[in-house]
Amino acid sequence: MDSRPLLISNATVFDATGGPARPNTSILIEEGRIAAVTPAAGQGTHEGATLIDGTGKFVIPGLIDMHVHVELSGGEDALPAWLGTGVTSVRDVGGAPANLIPLRDAINAGTKTGPRVFTYGPLLDGTPPIFGAAAGALAPRGGIDPGSLTWTIADAATAEQAVDELIARGVDGFKLYAGLRPDLVRAFLERIDGRLPVTGHLSRTWASEAIEMGINCLEHVHATIYQDVVPPEFRHPREEGNGFIPNYWTWLNTGWANADLGADYVKRFVELLVSRGVALSPTTVLITGGMATREALDEPGLKYTPRGLTQRRAAQMEQARRLREEAEKAGRPLPPPMALEGADAEMGQRARAKQLEFLRMVYEAGGTVVPSTDVGAAPNQVPGFSLHRELALFAEAGIPNAAVIELATRHAARVLRKDDELGTLAPGKRADLLLLTKDPLADIHNTRAIETVVKDGVAYAPQPLLERAVAGG
Ligand SMILES: [Zn+2]
Repeated sequence: MDSRPLLISNATVFDATGGPARPNTSILIEEGRIAAVTPAAGQGTHEGATLIDGTGKFVIPGLIDMHVHVELSGGEDALPAWLGTGVTSVRDVGGAPANLIPLRDAINAGTKTGPRVFTYGPLLDGTPPIFGAAAGALAPRGGIDPGSLTWTIADAATAEQAVDELIARGVDGFKLYAGLRPDLVRAFLERIDGRLPVTGHLSRTWASEAIEMGINCLEHVHATIYQDVVPPEFRHPREEGNGFIPNYWTWLNTGWANADLGADYVKRFVELLVSRGVALSPTTVLITGGMATREALDEPGLKYTPRGLTQRRAAQMEQARRLREEAEKAGRPLPPPMALEGADAEMGQRARAKQLEFLRMVYEAGGTVVPSTDVGAAPNQVPGFSLHRELALFAEAGIPNAAVIELATRHAARVLRKDDELGTLAPGKRADLLLLTKDPLADIHNTRAIETVVKDGVAYAPQPLLERAVAGG
């Protein structure tokens, strides 16, 4: 790593600490950390420092994607795509520990180039698990298996063993999954006992139940909180949720399209979320990629889909085609169509509007909503670019641009419990930042106008990184 000091002079700096952007400001970076943020007039000369002229440009902290699957995004091929789009940290909420922990450590040691990875271990699922054998990479191989992306946990004793094993391996947090019933969610939270943050994509356990038990974060605005937010007549029996309802997207869209966000039970749920300090990682882009609203397909960055992700998607399509062909020949009922097929566009749009309205409600109530994408698992998403789409959706929901950037930086770092190191441009913090050619506070889409990405004090030009992701290796 280049340990030469770096001086970005005379830029407009939005440090994400809560104050306004500061014009004519310089940032000195030494040993991978921010050494000083000062008015450009008093910056002085720094012998030997690499100089970047920030005149007319804008600096914000590096962005954090709070919901990715590194392995499913193409693994190492995806790393340069994140860095090239200004995503300097990712939270992996479902990956095989045997793969993800060594990768995280190699990046931190500087032997591999990529975003900082915070690994929350495998999907800790119940029985029966949400994904069956047809799920390919997601299919569980049994209970505790460091090489598997999903672990199925049958009882409290195994939950405790899983916690101990993952803490010993050095995970950064935990991800509880949709097949867990309340007794096992409780067993996990009691064993973890606040030592590491816990997030959940839940279905058999209601979000409100998990909040009462002490969970720290909830994934997916459309799914995990569904039971608490949609009208009672649209809720599903505890056992028949995620993974067990045919045409699950249609089901979710219908419930959300008919949501009454002024209802008392919705207000009480938002109050509970906010008063317990539980963050919502909404993966808002999923409602445009996974629902009938197919905006994700218009993403210009799709051409930078990492090689490994392109290959995995092609293999998935081929597998789905083969399964249907075999079923047809044998006269068996055809397997359910892909999530995108058959979804009602009008219903999808109504659901989309309600979900954005819900995000604004949580934000305005003082809650924490952290941008996230589910890239790797979600249809049509592409590493990095999808996070910029997510930021735009937050702005569309009515969250001010400055707050959107703070949610993707300072607040995300706090939810990761890494706010002593990351998330703002303050002296002593790790030097993760973006130099933009356009003002992101004027228009959130300008977070894409990245001239230079700095991670750990090392400067990168985006374009070669994006090209490396496509080429792979
Ligand atoms: Zn996911």
